[in-house]
This record gives sequence, C-alpha cells and structure tokens, in this order.
Amino acid sequence: MMDLLKQIQIVLVETSHSGNIGSTARAMKTMGLSHLRLVSPKQEIDEQAIALSAGAKDLLEQAQVFNSFDQAIADCQLVIGTSARLRHLQSSLIEPRACGELAIQRAIQGKVAIVFGRERVGLTNEELLKCHYHLNVPTNAEYGSLNLAMAVQLVSYEVRMAWLNFSKNLQKSPQNSPLVEKANINYPSAESLEHFFNHTERLYRELGFIRNDAVMLKLRRLYQRCELETAELNLLRGMLTSVEKKIHQD
Ligand code: SAH
Repeated sequence: MMDLLKQIQIVLVETSHSGNIGSTARAMKTMGLSHLRLVSPKQEIDEQAIALSAGAKDLLEQAQVFNSFDQAIADCQLVIGTSARLRHLQSSLIEPRACGELAIQRAIQGKVAIVFGRERVGLTNEELLKCHYHLNVPTNAEYGSLNLAMAVQLVSYEVRMAWLNFSKNLQKSPQNSPLVEKANINYPSAESLEHFFNHTERLYRELGFIRNDAVMLKLRRLYQRCELETAELNLLRGMLTSVEKKIHQD
C-alpha cells in the first residue's frame, strides 16, 4: 500500500508571516505529513520560518509555491477548506474527526488538499466555493479563531489518527477493509471540474439560460456537493457536447 500520508497536501493561502509557514511545517512533520503547498506567500521562506520549523526544514525546502489557488489544488480530487467562521456559502460542513477519516479514505485514490486561509481574513467565499467540504474546528464561540499553524496541527492530528486506525484495520483483515473496497472509484481532479464548470457556463450563457453569476454559484454548489465521480462527470460533459453540436449545426 502506498504511503497515504504523502497524498495529503496542506495548502496555505497568502500567508503573511513566514513564522507561521515554519510552524506549519513543524506541525505537519510531527504528524507524518510532508507535502506543503504555498499560494503566493507574502513573505519568503526566511530565517524566521526556518527557526520556527525546528527539525522540519526539509518540508520548507520541498514546499511548492503557486501563483493561484486554482493551480495549487488543480491535481487534487478532494478539496477541504478550513474556516474559523461558519458562512452561508459553505458547501458542506465536516468535523475534524470525520475530515481525517475522509482524507485517508480518499488518499487511496488520489491527492487530497486541505486548505488554510490568510491570518487576518481567512479564505474568500470564492475559494470556499471551490472546496467540497468545509471544516470548522469547534472552538469557543466567544473567541474561536486559532493561530494558523495550530489549526494545521489539529487537523493534521486527526489525519494521523485516521491513518493509524486504517493501518491497524488493514493488518487485521486486508481484504475486508471497507476503505479498500472504495478504492476503485475514480474522482476527477479539481482542474477537470473547473473545465466542466466553464463548459457549462459557456453553453448556458449562449443558450440564454445563464444571465448572471448567481446561477453559476448555485450550480457549482450543487455539483460540488454531489462529489461527482469521473464517469459521472464524463456523462455530464457528453450531454453538454451533444447540445453544443446541435445548436451549432444550423
Ligand atoms: N479572521 C479570520 C481568521 C483566520 S485564522 C477568519 O475569520 O476566517 C487563519 C486560518 O486558520 C483560517 O483561514 C483557517 O484556515 C484556520 N483556522 C483558524 N481557526 C479555525 C477554526 N476554528 N476552524 C478551522 N480553521 C481555523
């Protein structure tokens, strides 16, 4: 069995303080996670970052830097966004424990992104919309905003617990593990989903059905919630193409 923890990508969006990037690397490494992705960090990986990473400097050296949120999640088949606030635009809520289990389950098929927002303002609504699940650590209602790296620590801990559990069950009964059975399902990458959304929007604008952005937001939410499988996505794309062909005939 491949190393499932390597499939988990921790994504930090526009982090302001390099120290937080260092502390994140440390938090990840203690839990056995290794893949860190940075979207347009405001500060370089500097001495402060390295100092706070302690023994996890290797994670910083291997961190991948991206110019956009979309690029950072493009090859991931499951995207989980984290937020200190519950917003009405959330696709669907997931508890940290369930998030750990889902992340490990889906890591069998492909890459999983767990995304953390900016220190001051978190993730934008647009970014949250591109996540299948929305994770909130149930903190004190009067003061619930965790330090970025501490949020990463908690979520990474749950991923590790799920992984330990999974490994234990696999040893006991390798054939019957319910997670392994699901491994045959294939899910599309975030990039393929994005192509599908663009295709849908293009066609339905042309048909005059989509006239404003609100419709597309609703459709995105609907399709994200379904967690479409690759075969299902192909079916939908086939339907779009057949309509397209027909209207371009005349
Ligand atoms: N004022 C911002 C706080 C951002 S804290 C906001 O309300 O969104 C920086 C990041 O840490 C968040 O974007 C999120 O990724 C993570 N985080 C902090 N507290 C969290 C919580 N209670 N649950 C989940 N993630 C949290």
